[in-house]
Amino acid sequence: MPAATRDDPAVRFCVRCGAALLRREHQGAIRPGCTACDYVHFFDPKVAAAAWIEEEGRVLLVRRAVMPQRGLWTIPGGYVDAWEDPASAVVRECAEELGVAVELTGLLDVVAGREHPLGAGFVIFYSATLRTRALRPADDVDQAGWFAAHELPELAFEATRSMAARWQAVRAAQKSA
Ligand SMILES: [Zn+2]
Repeated sequence: MPAATRDDPAVRFCVRCGAALLRREHQGAIRPGCTACDYVHFFDPKVAAAAWIEEEGRVLLVRRAVMPQRGLWTIPGGYVDAWEDPASAVVRECAEELGVAVELTGLLDVVAGREHPLGAGFVIFYSATLRTRALRPADDVDQAGWFAAHELPELAFEATRSMAARWQAVRAAQKSA
């Protein structure tokens, strides 16, 4: 990972006293530290959570209507707010993006790896089922659709692509068994 993605130049002033921050070594890494008080800024990961919703061998995908990766497809999901349960975040995102109620049925995986400066540090993937049927794309998506493993459209985000690749391998093995 490029070193540049391990800093955020927008972090310039102390949140405690407003003085300038200076990058310096602190606990094994270069971190912004206050020049007036003892505050040291630790960058925390942004966390995303998403729903893998599968029915009859097809996965529910949404097409992104916003940057980054506008026009590419991914699964419903988004950032977890501070103090929000990631499971609640997935339920909320499905309601916002698709107008559906979902029930989470399991935890699939946690995939780490930040792709761009504003990207998630890791994504929590849940399996889920729909509790309501009508899909109404809204918010930051403009289309929704069901796709079989052999007909996936171009996907946004490495974490989603890695989950999809594993799913395709499982589906292929099931077909040949
Ligand atoms: Zn300070």
